[in-house]
Amino acid sequence: MKRLPEPPEDVVVNLLRLANTRIPDDIGWALEAAAGWETGEIARIQLGAVLENIKKAEHLGVPMCQDTGIPVFYVRGKFDSSIVSAIAAGVEKATRIIPLRPNTVDPITRENYGSNLGPGMPVIHFVPGDVPYTEITVLPKGAGSENMTRLAMLNPADGVEGIKKFVQGAVLDAGGRPCPPSVVGVGIGGTSDRCAAMAKEALLIPLDCDNPDPVLGKMEEELFSALNSSGLGPMGLGGSSTVLGVRIKKEACHTASLPVAVNIGCWATRRASARIWDDGVEYSQGAVF
Ligand code: SF4
Repeated sequence: MKRLPEPPEDVVVNLLRLANTRIPDDIGWALEAAAGWETGEIARIQLGAVLENIKKAEHLGVPMCQDTGIPVFYVRGKFDSSIVSAIAAGVEKATRIIPLRPNTVDPITRENYGSNLGPGMPVIHFVPGDVPYTEITVLPKGAGSENMTRLAMLNPADGVEGIKKFVQGAVLDAGGRPCPPSVVGVGIGGTSDRCAAMAKEALLIPLDCDNPDPVLGKMEEELFSALNSSGLGPMGLGGSSTVLGVRIKKEACHTASLPVAVNIGCWATRRASARIWDDGVEYSQGAVF
């Protein structure tokens, strides 16, 4: 449903409120499905607590996790340079009024900026796309899952089996630290920086969308089965629901390279998008580009 026009700064506040207080439908459905198939007693208790927490957060309008993350933005369509200051103003305002935990610090002194801003913040990616609106998407990323990010420059001869082995190793080495059951974002190809970016972008793709590439779709299914057979389970406490889904993106790469990156989304894989038209704003919680 389209809402009346709002200043971009307020759209950003609304996006951060939506992303932090309401789980996207596809993630919620996947958690409910996991609670249905899980047989481990402790795992079922964990999933029940997560689902109860999600319900309470939405009902009370409060963040579903104490780590409200670092908001990563994706912008495409019609915009000018003022979008950068509008997003920054929205982040500062959202931190104050929702409120969000101020998470950004100087990496050396560890002094907290108090606003979720600071040099290089907020992170904004500009996505190509000829669309007749401005689309702003936010992915708040907590440290527990972000700290488990892995990048490997594999040997091209490692092939599909090498890629799957690396992804499984990254998820299983992470154990309970990224608060599983997780969504596993995978980037394959590109340069090292594009590969890491793709792995994070993959977390924006709803779990109920088929991968348009059948080869990647097959890899997603195989990794999903293998990881859920690992026994790691919710919060790493054992069980058959280690991951809610695996999402893979790929781009062309150098003939002598095979970059692979993994970015893990926790059970609280949060996202929200707004399409800003001339006559109003539409909000949603899935984005594919
Ligand atoms: S990994 Fe996710 S669920 Fe766990 S503390 Fe961080 S934001 Fe919260």
